[in-house]
Amino acid sequence: VTSREECIARDAADPMAAFRERFVVPENMIYLDGNSLGLMPKSAAARVQKALAEEWGQDLITSWNKHGWFDMPRKMGNKLARLIGAPSDSVVIADTISINMFKVLTSALAMRPDRKIILSDSGNFPSDLYVAQGLNTFLDGRYEVKIVAPEAVLASITADVAVVMLTEVDYRTSRRHDMAAITNLAHAKGALTIWDLAHSAGAMAVDLSAADADFAVGCTYKYINGGPGSQAFAFVHPRHQTTAMPALVGWWGHARPFDFDLTYEAAPDMRRQQSGTQAILSLAALDAALDCWADVDMVALREKSKSLCSLFISLVEEQCAGLGLLLAGPRDMAQRGSHVSFHCAQGYAVMQALIARGVIGDFRAPDLIRFGFAPLYNTRLEVFDAAAVLADILKTASWNQPRFLQKKAVT
Ligand SMILES: *Cc1c(COP(=O)(O)O)cnc(C)c1O
Repeated sequence: VTSREECIARDAADPMAAFRERFVVPENMIYLDGNSLGLMPKSAAARVQKALAEEWGQDLITSWNKHGWFDMPRKMGNKLARLIGAPSDSVVIADTISINMFKVLTSALAMRPDRKIILSDSGNFPSDLYVAQGLNTFLDGRYEVKIVAPEAVLASITADVAVVMLTEVDYRTSRRHDMAAITNLAHAKGALTIWDLAHSAGAMAVDLSAADADFAVGCTYKYINGGPGSQAFAFVHPRHQTTAMPALVGWWGHARPFDFDLTYEAAPDMRRQQSGTQAILSLAALDAALDCWADVDMVALREKSKSLCSLFISLVEEQCAGLGLLLAGPRDMAQRGSHVSFHCAQGYAVMQALIARGVIGDFRAPDLIRFGFAPLYNTRLEVFDAAAVLADILKTASWNQPRFLQKKAVT
């Protein structure tokens, strides 16, 4: 397919190569897990240190005004908006995906009171399904949470569906839904759409406006590099912002929070998707990460992602032929996200053996070894070397050791 030297030469000629300099890259490690927890921006430490020493340490409560703490979720939402093709003032940073999913799902359901089906698919992230199921249990089963195969989604969008709730890129297989086509059909049938962009935001150019999506959620600790547990985001299309009413509200979403009214009155904009106080130190780290994205060409980013993923697939299929691996998800790069998974019978142990040799990916039950290619910092040389280590581990069966077979809590 290619040589190591050729990979080095292509990295040197890569117009996106300089972005890697913005991140702390641990030595002797090939990090292919930016789809789970992105690298730390070099600028994050100073930004958090400022929030600690100056803002918290010295300015204390005055920082809510003086350092704009109160506006951070919306200001940062506007920084993130470009990455997902959202207009300004349609994104807020807050909470987790699961919590934001509850907010936008209840918002959407209230807008379709005569419909009883929440449609999702078996490629969705379980937490999204749990949120829908938990809500439905609380409502004594008023809704049907319908889970179909990803291929059956389009045919299942009938006139009784209230909400189509999907993750664009499957966290396991990397299969990518056609967001525009599904949204279009959902609208034709009178349904609303909610898109989970956890494996899309920062991995590819997302265009929520072009797809005409109604609602979206996503996380910032994966490809966006906001840090462990950094806040998620929520998007509401401008046409819904004054009608969408989440069931989870709080004082940060009140029209006038500092009036401390006893009765809730929703803010007439995206603020109503906020509930309460956010972790400011975490927002500070995320703010540094978002600044790393300010000058990134998202079209070039997508090309780099496709190039890294297709290179890895070719190298692995060439070097590991006959060793029991099977590519998960479609082959067509247009229908994939930015990670690559292979079915592998002893996948857990194989991944532990890879990690022991400095190639960091993860394992997803029942049998997937998963490698994320963060186009902002991964290189073709890393792709080449990772494929070679994987081939060596499989050929020598060096995964077959008790220390690699012992399952840890986090896979
Ligand atoms: C990582 C991920 C989440 C995480 O949800 P949190 O509530 O933020 O922990 C949700 N959905 C998908 C598709 C994910 O990949």
